[in-house]
Amino acid sequence: MSSAGGAFPLSYSGARRTFRASADALGARLDAIAIDKRSHRGEELTIDTAYLGPDQPDRVLVISSGIHGVEGFAGSAIQVEFMRRRYDPARLAPGAGVLIVHALNPYGFSELRRVNESNVDLNRNFLAHPEGHEPNAGYAALADVINPTELTSESDAACRERFRTYAREHGQASLQSALTRGQYEWKDGVQFGGTADEASSVALRKIAAEATRDAEDVMWLDFHTGLGPWGEVELISEYAPGSPGFDRAREWFGPAARSTVGGDSVSVALCGTIERGLETALPGRRVTPLAAEFGTVPSTRTFWAMRADNWLHHHGDVESDRGRAIRAELLEVFCPADPAWRSQVLGIADEVLKTAIDAFAAP
Ligand SMILES: [Zn+2]
Repeated sequence: MSSAGGAFPLSYSGARRTFRASADALGARLDAIAIDKRSHRGEELTIDTAYLGPDQPDRVLVISSGIHGVEGFAGSAIQVEFMRRRYDPARLAPGAGVLIVHALNPYGFSELRRVNESNVDLNRNFLAHPEGHEPNAGYAALADVINPTELTSESDAACRERFRTYAREHGQASLQSALTRGQYEWKDGVQFGGTADEASSVALRKIAAEATRDAEDVMWLDFHTGLGPWGEVELISEYAPGSPGFDRAREWFGPAARSTVGGDSVSVALCGTIERGLETALPGRRVTPLAAEFGTVPSTRTFWAMRADNWLHHHGDVESDRGRAIRAELLEVFCPADPAWRSQVLGIADEVLKTAIDAFAAP
């Protein structure tokens, strides 16, 4: 690989092949869980896991990718680079294992979507259905312009105007929360968190409970793209400053670790995230979950791309020229083609994983 950006896969199936071959070359224990859905090309869609380490580890570092489908292009490249260049059993404590989970949302990865086969944002799906569904009044007030049935310059202008009014009345942070926190009422809408446990969520809990092999101590790094300054990373915790889960992250990663509850994160506090799923799947263990989020374009452009993508899959023609342009934009906002961005992401991810190994898994 002359430029680091070259490590990015071209497709889900190519990514999966490279992931499995890289894991196999290290002698990893490979497994795969198929979801009950094929891509439109007929590909089998699986969540693949590779485990490296002792049979009975006392601690496991988990590196996962693709809970947001299309974000798996970067996540998969990061995982493969880790296996090819960073992983070194001599740098790990005898009791430390590494579990690498590939493509938590294989459908979205394959179809270049952030959501899964049920239009669900999996990182809003980890809660009790329906008791855990928090109402999202801001979203409710804006749902008709977030999810228009026709995507025209008029419906775009109406959306902008309503957002401006909403931000003026409630503040910009409240608008971001309304648009990104998650919602459980509009199943054809943006940021839908589902009405039941999704197949990938069930699989993730199973992987968390079984594939971490009863380790007492689990650090879970879930790789994302699409939020924050271009090419920079933030390690996002859903735990409040002062709680053990957040304080460990701060101790290990310094100021790059931010809390959504503390208010200094690029992300607002969210509903139903993977952290909550890990809490229920791994009771009684010491778990430190973090979303490793790499910034791409400004969040307004990202939101606009998600809104168009949602319209396309419910009201448009995916195979039309317009459909292709919308899909290309969605890919670009979550996985920029710029080789400098790709190279920077791989370099920073390697630093993050080196820090994780040194802080958590070294002898
Ligand atoms: Zn994400």
